[in-house]
Amino acid sequence: MSEQAETTRAATMDKIVALSKRRGFVYPGSDIYGGLANTWDFGPLGVELRNNIKQLWWRNFVQKRRDMVGLDAGILMHPRVWEASGHVVNFNDPLVDCKTCKARFRADHLLEDKLGIENAEAMSPDEMSAIIREKNLACPNCGNRTLTDARQFNMMFSTTIGPVSESANKVYLRPETAQGIFVQYKNLINTQRVKLPFGVGQIGKAFRNEITPGNFIFRVLEFEQMEIEYFVKPDEAPEKFDEWVQAMQQWIDLIGLKPEHVRVREHAKEELSHYSARTIDYEYLFPGSMGWKELYGLANRTDFDLRQHQEHSGDDLRFFDQAANERYLPYVIEPTFGVDRTFLTVMVDAYDEEETVDVNGKADKRTVLRLAPRLAPYKAAILPLAKKPELTKVAWELFETIQDETGALVDYDETANIGKRYRRQDEIGTPFCVTVDFDTLEDGAVTIRDRDTMDQQRVPMSEVSAMLAERIR
Ligand code: ATP
Repeated sequence: MSEQAETTRAATMDKIVALSKRRGFVYPGSDIYGGLANTWDFGPLGVELRNNIKQLWWRNFVQKRRDMVGLDAGILMHPRVWEASGHVVNFNDPLVDCKTCKARFRADHLLEDKLGIENAEAMSPDEMSAIIREKNLACPNCGNRTLTDARQFNMMFSTTIGPVSESANKVYLRPETAQGIFVQYKNLINTQRVKLPFGVGQIGKAFRNEITPGNFIFRVLEFEQMEIEYFVKPDEAPEKFDEWVQAMQQWIDLIGLKPEHVRVREHAKEELSHYSARTIDYEYLFPGSMGWKELYGLANRTDFDLRQHQEHSGDDLRFFDQAANERYLPYVIEPTFGVDRTFLTVMVDAYDEEETVDVNGKADKRTVLRLAPRLAPYKAAILPLAKKPELTKVAWELFETIQDETGALVDYDETANIGKRYRRQDEIGTPFCVTVDFDTLEDGAVTIRDRDTMDQQRVPMSEVSAMLAERIR
């Protein structure tokens, strides 16, 4: 007898947090010490999902493109980098404090959440303060109407090199990976035979002293970015921007997000960052009160960064265009992707609950993560029908063979009844279960069960690797 199903969209953030912990995707940071706000650790399955996201991104945007090269710059950089980039002066969040309970809040988020004002981040702190006073907003924590005016607060974490007392050696943990690329731009053009347009891709950690509570891993203090700085002739910037709109959309399709949950939002003129001529955000529709939130960004940064670094470093950063026989600073198109937000959205988008019928024909319910097979932590699970030596021996051999032949990560599970084991694999998104049963000993064939349809197919063991490789692709 096979299983059957009806589906509903069932993801809530609470369910995703619970599943993430239960199955080893994401644990609260410093858990046994009561946690540390907005920090999370990635468990065994989380590491695999993260790595799959990063590898797919790197393959897609760096290795497969002839106009891209890679870089891995340091987290600590010369403090003057952040003066040149504008982060020391401009990388601020508008914060209000409650005079009664001392809690701190992002002023723009308060206006958005409590008053439904859209894009409050485009307002100045004075404008935000005026609205907070006029509406006499209450503190979300203690309810007293004792909020201060909004004040700018720099979001960079700082630390010191050498003894702590030497304040002269203050450095910052980078708040974005982009500046590493601009600072190495000269070495890249001098060593890499690159011609405009070309891009540099980088994946790495970034740190921001975020105040607003995180919505799980949506907003964290320590996160990873996958960023590209794409250098172009200034007059080609609008056209290249449009090409990146397409390329980012293709990535969103590649990781399997449902089109109805993704939209593009164009930044209004007054909302643009100081360096940007045009910015769009890709937004994702999160469940519940979260709603539409930024997933990725795409900006035309003009020649702002190279010009700033040229001025502050004194080095000539102009590109020599041989065909035109002239030197100029290229413009930069920046597609930026958060690893953690990708992780969260693929989990939320893939989460499903179904009313089903189990292997014995009884009504049942299953939770299934319909992850794109490329991203799933395990591509297959090998399940001997019973914990009998004659079956487990064959199952372990098959496990070794499939891992070697496909290069994919495979799980092995011989505990509990087969129905429970299917449910366990459904919940962690394993696309295929391969069952070794007593008939296998006679006919050399196994049953492959598809996670999404629950259809089962009998396949000779010698053909399993090829079939999995084909279907994972
Ligand atoms: P937000 O408006 O949500 O604070 P942002 O516009 O400041 O984001 P960018 O500076 O454009 O974000 O950063 C690029 C990408 O890095 C974002 O699109 C997002 O995917 C990711 N990102 C930024 N801040 C965080 C964070 N605190 N936690 C997790 N990911 C983040």
